[in-house]
Amino acid sequence: MRIKTVIERTVKVDSKVRNARVDLGQMTVSAVAVVTDVHGDGGSITGFAFNSFGRYGCGGPLRDRFIPRLLALEPADLLDPAGTNVDPGRILAALLTREKAAGHAERSMALGTLELALWDVVAKVERRPLYQVLADRFGGGAATLPGDIPTYAAGGFYGNADEVPAVGATVAGWRDAGFVDAKIKAGGGDLGLDCRRIEAARAAQPPGGRLALDLSCAFDAASGVQFAQAVKPYDPWFLEEPCDPLDFEGYHAVAQTGCRIAGGENLFAAREFDNFLRYGRLGPGVVLEPDPALAYGVTGLREIVAVAQAHGLSKAAIYPHGGNMMSLHIVAGLGLAGLEAYPGQFGIFGGFSREIDIRDGRASLPSAPGIGFEEQPALFALFDEMARSA
Ligand code: MG
Repeated sequence: MRIKTVIERTVKVDSKVRNARVDLGQMTVSAVAVVTDVHGDGGSITGFAFNSFGRYGCGGPLRDRFIPRLLALEPADLLDPAGTNVDPGRILAALLTREKAAGHAERSMALGTLELALWDVVAKVERRPLYQVLADRFGGGAATLPGDIPTYAAGGFYGNADEVPAVGATVAGWRDAGFVDAKIKAGGGDLGLDCRRIEAARAAQPPGGRLALDLSCAFDAASGVQFAQAVKPYDPWFLEEPCDPLDFEGYHAVAQTGCRIAGGENLFAAREFDNFLRYGRLGPGVVLEPDPALAYGVTGLREIVAVAQAHGLSKAAIYPHGGNMMSLHIVAGLGLAGLEAYPGQFGIFGGFSREIDIRDGRASLPSAPGIGFEEQPALFALFDEMARSA
């Protein structure tokens, strides 16, 4: 088995929204296609992935460094011991051999995206959905898998003409689409407006629905505490990223208000999660939100799970970031708590495949081999065009 070529394409994300700090209007994504010489149903088996969203594309390090290294690997670094499939963990280790320690964000997205595309290859060669492959290798086995996965709707961005009815309508749409729990942006500057947005979202939720607030790193310790105390009467499910992810004292201060804290979409390696938990001192209720594509892929996620467990947390504390098929497979395969979803947002990169049903706040699992981007027609049109250009 051989990798014939790897193609990267930097694509603009169709998004006009903003969170508390960032306008997403110029956001880009790197899409990757790993073309093998293994013959499958539709020609050469090709693995696809993209680097989630919320961070810009990573075509530079992919094209300049990691794709050439991958194409130069010897079979011993490329394949599993039987020589019949690629070995993403082994490949990741080989691609890291010329890299210094730390500075993860500079490469973790490029490598995470590549690693996930390689997992798409692995599962397609095995002709199984990726989550089943992951469950067999790293979880409790395919027989122990649940039939569906807890999934909450996320979004509720700023950037509308009339923010309060807009967020209410958004959350009502999620409720009608089968979601129960929700997460909206908050911390954008006007506390009174945020309170009215929270009330509108709450009023649109089904009974029992929890509402989380994504603060997008808007605050320092003092203003974060102030905000947390102001919204605590609304009983938020959790406050996501109140402060800069490296402001451990800020996180600790906000956690002392008694609000549950979430974070991790802007941490990129297990060591960073170790520091976050060790110095943030966030209590047993903390929610961790690593993004597989941004943090060294499945391999990186497994290391992060191990760090969380070393800090006394269970897999039930981990809700990966990235409302996409990659995160869905990893949550199911590794037995994590659940994940977010971005229905109707981020253009072709948002949402799940057409195989997925949402009911009572849970997402069904797919049957297509691999990650199953083939069942996401608008996105697959891009991947297919990339593969054909090889
Ligand atoms: Mg967030």
